[in-house]
Amino acid sequence: MPTGPLRSTALEMPGTLEMSPAGLYCPAGGFHIDPWKPVPRAVITHAHADHARSGCGQYLCLSTGKRVLRERVGASAKIDTLRRRERQRVGDVDLQLVPSGHILGSAQVCITHRGVRWVVTGDYKLEADPTCDPFETVEADVLVTESTFGLPIYRWGDARETAASINAWWRASREAGSTCVLFAYALGKAQRLASMLDPSIGPIYAHGAVMKMVRAYRDSGVRLPPIDQLAPATRRAGGGRAMVIAPPSTAGSRWLKTFGETRVAMASGWMTIRGVRRRRGFDRGFVVSDHADFPGLVQAVEASRAKRVYVTHGSSAVFARFLCERGIEASVLETRFSGEEGSDEPTDAPGVEPATDIPGQPDTRPTVSARDEDGESA
Ligand SMILES: [Zn+2]
Repeated sequence: MPTGPLRSTALEMPGTLEMSPAGLYCPAGGFHIDPWKPVPRAVITHAHADHARSGCGQYLCLSTGKRVLRERVGASAKIDTLRRRERQRVGDVDLQLVPSGHILGSAQVCITHRGVRWVVTGDYKLEADPTCDPFETVEADVLVTESTFGLPIYRWGDARETAASINAWWRASREAGSTCVLFAYALGKAQRLASMLDPSIGPIYAHGAVMKMVRAYRDSGVRLPPIDQLAPATRRAGGGRAMVIAPPSTAGSRWLKTFGETRVAMASGWMTIRGVRRRRGFDRGFVVSDHADFPGLVQAVEASRAKRVYVTHGSSAVFARFLCERGIEASVLETRFSGEEGSDEPTDAPGVEPATDIPGQPDTRPTVSARDEDGESA
């Protein structure tokens, strides 16, 4: 069992997967996975901004994720798809995409090369989510897992209880005549939250960045409650009864001030840490994440029966050491993420309200690389 430093950047099977300047690369298949730069062929685990970038020659994703990926990479991008667990020979490898339960169309990438099966999880969660296909366990020889919430403090509660808490907060705010504003990542989290809301309490509105993805979800066949985009003339509509879903970057913005009396909440895995909510000035924090919590990560790794595990993102060193202590050969796989790239607030889309940052509100995420969860997707 390794006892030395856990840092590792080398993948121990050259030819199958390696780290390139553009990110994870499969030489035998001639493709990158979630590349950081434009490349000829990109296999995409999901459409969050830090995984799907525009400008690649060709994209491959799970069929259920094509519409949201199109929203991200543009109308002219060439997007091919695979059905769930459909096998495709790509170069010298067999490739499969298996649902990861993170957002609509999210997938684990399974590569079989020379009899060895590699699984790259991308982002994933094990909790049920009516807006996307559930996570499926895939047995692997080598597993590359995320560890965004790879500390034991991160344990999600029952989703139904969380939904009841959000609806109770909405009901109480309505009684007080205050509009509720719920901050959430525009892709995935916002739609999942919408599915948790009780539309009998009042009207549901969404920021333009959220609505764009609501339309993509509906086009993909996901059922959501009635949600309207707020046009300028209707911003005071709802008479203090409405729930507004907006990207976190609209907190403190002029756009938000036009709602009059509001109560604001954040829905994120980071809300586990009370100080984060207080410092960012939210009235409420709801712990809702589209990533696996700590027990979920452990469960997924053990269920894969992988003999070798590489850990990326978030608390990777701590989580890799934890796995080593459980007898699993694990090490950290360094990846390159920056905060800006983790942001998912499109501010340049036509018809989208300005999404400004909060002055004087430092990012308080604990020792975590900035990624979709947070900014937002957490
Ligand atoms: Zn993600």
